Amino acid sequence: MSKIAIIGGGIIGLCSAYYLHKSGHEVCIFDSNELGKQCSYGNAGLLVPSHFETLANPSILKKGLMWMLNPNSPFFLKPRLDMDLLKWIIKFSSFCTNKHVQNNQHFLRDINLYSLDLYKDLLNNSDLDFTLNQNGLLMLCQKESTLQDEERAVQNANKLGLKAKILNVEEIKKLEPNASFNAIGASYFKDDSTIQPYDFMNSIKKYLLKNNVKIYENCKIQNFILKNNQIKSIITNENEKYEADEFVLSSGIFSTKLANKLNLNLLMQAGKGFSFTVPKNDALNFKTPMILVEQKIAITPYDSYIRFGGTMMICGNDLSINQRRINNIRKYSNNYINNLNIQQEDMNDLWAGLRPCSPDGLPYIGKAKISNLVVASGHAMMGVSLGPASGKIVSDLINEKKTQINIKRMTLYRF
Ligand SMILES: Cc1cc2nc3c(=O)[nH]c(=O)nc-3n(C[C@H](O)[C@H](O)[C@H](O)COP(=O)(O)OP(=O)(O)OC[C@H]3O[C@@H](n4cnc5c(N)ncnc54)[C@H](O)[C@@H]3O)c2cc1C
Repeated sequence: MSKIAIIGGGIIGLCSAYYLHKSGHEVCIFDSNELGKQCSYGNAGLLVPSHFETLANPSILKKGLMWMLNPNSPFFLKPRLDMDLLKWIIKFSSFCTNKHVQNNQHFLRDINLYSLDLYKDLLNNSDLDFTLNQNGLLMLCQKESTLQDEERAVQNANKLGLKAKILNVEEIKKLEPNASFNAIGASYFKDDSTIQPYDFMNSIKKYLLKNNVKIYENCKIQNFILKNNQIKSIITNENEKYEADEFVLSSGIFSTKLANKLNLNLLMQAGKGFSFTVPKNDALNFKTPMILVEQKIAITPYDSYIRFGGTMMICGNDLSINQRRINNIRKYSNNYINNLNIQQEDMNDLWAGLRPCSPDGLPYIGKAKISNLVVASGHAMMGVSLGPASGKIVSDLINEKKTQINIKRMTLYRF
């Protein structure tokens, strides 16, 4: 049994803590905020085998410039004088190729399906109490050209063995008879599922507390003390030192800054997104999660409310709420869902989160050259989807077990 300190208690840190505790280690978690209150909090909660295309892909490069000139677009990059941003843009652009997408689609499918299986296992054991909605994912289209792109995505998904099909207007109505959409068709990915991410994380937190795992909230790790190529202890903002045998760095976008102190370059940019919730009403009487394809807005139904989320702003580690973007999510949702008229006063839990985005769209998971450090970060748009897989891989690495997924392409030293 080792003593393991986890730095960052978002979905990745919490899943790592769970599997490490289950394999018999003494675990403690440090978080500079409350657990689960950063990027893992207000996201759309989608578990997405359907997202087998990397974020870096040819279509984002093609649309990127057009979007940059449009303040209402779902993607925005704020130019600034920053060498790391420049390096990230150059790398990101170099990965926007069909070859990169094809090279990684099997891997992204496999790791997403592996994680989904782990979610199902967690649902069936009695440690955690959470809901897994297995209703698939609808990708609603308003334009003929986007529906054609979805047809290609469905063909690809089928080739990869995923259950996907195109639905016409009548078929959408059959799937969701109590709601009406302003769309010409949709793709439907049957394997996708949903959780409420904060409920899921709280359930892990409860389990860990019940099992005497030490959780230090509002405790920021500032630095490391090294000895013989090992981390000996971590130092908090209160200048306290904590020793452990093994360390896990899972601080989301903030991992880069901490990794720099260890001479490890985790190239990442924050992809800021927003969300809000609206109580259910007659127009929102549906159960299938959906993405409004042209506007890249994710809509996730829960029992009593719906969460609306979207946009990707590359604008530094800034968590301010951009009212214009929030209004766009509201306006476009009103446009796609018939009889919906969300007003400012209907919007609850307004939130911004920073997705930790690597330039090639793959996470960083692996052992560092510092012999007692494992890193798990850079999950961009898929941290929730890949939470259990990442936690299990972290645990397998520390236990020196073979990981079920080949993790070579997520190596920390690829840039
Ligand atoms: C609008 C939006 C929608 C999204 N939708 C989805 C979706 O549908 N499906 C999906 O899979 N993903 C989605 N994502 C992405 C997902 O939210 C992230 O990939 C995921 O939350 C990243 O988890 P994390 O644990 O790495 O980071 P975080 O949740 O950010 O956790 C990192 C933790 O580290 C702590 N920390 C930071 N610095 C320190 C320090 N120095 N010392 C101690 N602690 C520290 C932070 O307080 C934080 O709690 C979405 C994101 C956004 C913004």
